[in-house]
Amino acid sequence: MKVVKNDTVLVVSGNSRGKKGKVLKVFPKDERVIVEGVNFIKRHTRKSQKNPQGGIIEREAPIHASNVKLICSKCNKAARVGRVVLENKKRVRVCRSCGEMLSSS
Ligand SMILES: [Zn+2]
Repeated sequence: MKVVKNDTVLVVSGNSRGKKGKVLKVFPKDERVIVEGVNFIKRHTRKSQKNPQGGIIEREAPIHASNVKLICSKCNKAARVGRVVLENKKRVRVCRSCGEMLSSS
């Protein structure tokens, strides 16, 4: 998995292609991610305390991690991500085009 929670990513395939959003949740086992504002699905729900009206709610559904690309905060575009190991043995992700560190994962 190249993306982690709170990354800003670009969707590169599927219906939401071209959309940018923040990663809200990752499912490493399924290699899926939920991206804010991307891939809304309609859900029919019963009335509940949380949702007293019931009816149809829209929420984001997970998309496959291979459909998103990390956006480099410096280049402000989809980055090719490399990994480097720092002196303190910490692994960080870097943007291959500008070398900017993109936080650890
Ligand atoms: Zn960059």
